[in-house]
Amino acid sequence: VGDLERALASVVGAAQVLVDDDVRSGYEVDWTGRFRGRTPAVVRPGSADEVAGVLAVCRSLGAAVVPQGGNTGLVGGGVPLAGEVVLSLRRLATVGPVDRLAAQVTAGAGATLEAVSSAAAPCGLDVGVDLAARGSATIGGMVATNAGGLRHLRHGAMRSAVAGIEAVLADGSVVSHLGGLAKDNTGYDLAGLLCGSEGTLGVVTAVRLRLVPRLGDDLTTALVGFSSVDDALVAMRAAGVLEAAEVMFPSGLALLGTPPVSAPVVVLFEWAGSSPGVPDLPGVLDAAVATSSSQRAALWWWREAHTEAVNRLGPPPHKLDVTLPLGGLSGFVASVPSLVPPGATVVVWGHLADGNLHVNVVGPPPDDDSVDDAVLRAVAAAGGSISAEHGIGTAKKRWLALGRSEAEIAAFRAVKRALDPDGLLNPNVLLP
Ligand SMILES: Cc1cc2nc3c(=O)[nH]c(=O)nc-3n(C[C@H](O)[C@H](O)[C@H](O)COP(=O)(O)OP(=O)(O)OC[C@H]3O[C@@H](n4cnc5c(N)ncnc54)[C@H](O)[C@@H]3O)c2cc1C
Repeated sequence: VGDLERALASVVGAAQVLVDDDVRSGYEVDWTGRFRGRTPAVVRPGSADEVAGVLAVCRSLGAAVVPQGGNTGLVGGGVPLAGEVVLSLRRLATVGPVDRLAAQVTAGAGATLEAVSSAAAPCGLDVGVDLAARGSATIGGMVATNAGGLRHLRHGAMRSAVAGIEAVLADGSVVSHLGGLAKDNTGYDLAGLLCGSEGTLGVVTAVRLRLVPRLGDDLTTALVGFSSVDDALVAMRAAGVLEAAEVMFPSGLALLGTPPVSAPVVVLFEWAGSSPGVPDLPGVLDAAVATSSSQRAALWWWREAHTEAVNRLGPPPHKLDVTLPLGGLSGFVASVPSLVPPGATVVVWGHLADGNLHVNVVGPPPDDDSVDDAVLRAVAAAGGSISAEHGIGTAKKRWLALGRSEAEIAAFRAVKRALDPDGLLNPNVLLP
């Protein structure tokens, strides 16, 4: 550790190499508390060149590296489970001037989503990807996980928002393509390759982001109750252009109190424009509508508070973020209780339009992954994906072959070998 610490300090300065137990500990455990490891040092570079210097040191000393942004990832991909050095990108937090003509901005990898959204606001612009962890999740982490979130039905995942990237590769070279040209067909899409690469192919240091028109307060939000998932889906299709469609169930809502709408299935719909009531939708049992920003925030709270409420239940949750074909969503939801051990608590919510469910199971010990196995196999059998938006991380790498063929995984390995032949970057993530 002495050599490593000294060599890292020669690149970033001693103050940016954290080795005290109590300072490191926050970087060693993930947001859910399920994944906990140990690191010899947390290193906090302040520029892309310093990132390159850190990687050179780690390569020469044979120390593997885990890049970390806001540490809000939910698949154990950003914590040092095998004694890696933690490379924290949070100091790269600069947000450049907003280019109003192009509707773009360049942000450092460590800038939070909230910081970028606030910088875009005075220009009437916003980041198209939004998620409840916006105050901590970083742009670099969101690119590395290809985050989806609450507006995916409208604007797609992070990959759609990326117009260019600067990254440091494992050999220390800096690849920078931040011009943000609308059309630029000049070879391989390195930025696209880094989206969803979970820190295994390069360290993202800056991102050129495409922005979208800001919605402001001219919105209508409603909690709408249905008797079944199928009824909710039919109504969603009849609802026109939606800004959000988030699904919840009584088991999750009950953790938060008595919701304004009580029904077997509750969906938060959001539309652009103010309307005094819910459009005439089929199958509606009950509805609560909000148009003022404070009322809308109160309805959103019922959805966004789910994640923390599950964490408060006690033992760290098993979080299974999956996609089902829309036609199979209702049957899958009905089958979930039969997939978990007796006595476990199951809480499900998700992004309805994407067929994306967050299946949370509380009860089984963190290292018992039999419930993960049962749920992920059921998802694959139903034609779904074992990771909708959180990525594979360490939590799901055992099951990658449920969603990817041997040939695809071989191609993944070839890409990894080409860009990181020594296995320096997140060697324990993604690939089984
Ligand atoms: C309350 C809550 C709500 C959430 N809601 C959503 C949601 O709706 N949709 C969604 O998709 N996710 C959601 N998430 C998950 C999480 O916020 C996202 O995965 C987010 O993109 C992670 O960003 P981060 O900066 O915290 O990354 P981290 O957790 O620090 O890292 C995540 C992964 O990216 C890698 N990484 C981080 N930074 C870099 C970098 N600069 N270069 C290369 N690799 C890097 C890490 O090694 C790790 O593999 C939620 C999480 C919480 C806690």
